[in-house]
Amino acid sequence: MSETIFTKIISREIPADIIYEDDMALAFKDINPQAPVHFLVIPKKPIATINDISEDDRLVVGHLSFVAAKLATEMGFAEEGYRTVMNCNEFGGQTVYHIHLHVLAKKLMGWPPYTNKAKALE
Ligand code: 5GP
Repeated sequence: MSETIFTKIISREIPADIIYEDDMALAFKDINPQAPVHFLVIPKKPIATINDISEDDRLVVGHLSFVAAKLATEMGFAEEGYRTVMNCNEFGGQTVYHIHLHVLAKKLMGWPPYTNKAKALE
């Protein structure tokens, strides 16, 4: 798999505001936050999209949600709630091809998540 900006963040080739790290995952603040709290939880293993998750990856991918909830508790917004999102490919709005769980908090989220432009394409 080709290198992405996220593999370079894992290897510290480019800087990021890292808030958590363990042997399987890294969490860092999104460079273009869409909520007062917006960070990404990524696997250290580069997996391009949700479609590329193999059976062997199930533990590490589940771990991303575990880390999201752990950080939500530690940061004090678990009880009020938050949004996690993993985008897949073009229609999902994915721009970096190394899977990542967005964690957005401290803002009341709406539903559905699509824009009016996307609605107009139906
Ligand atoms: P996607 O659109 O693939 O679901 O989300 C990619 C996210 O990565 C975006 O929210 C974008 O702001 C964030 N991002 C892209 N490049 C960088 C970077 O160099 N550093 C950080 N911290 N976030 C990035």
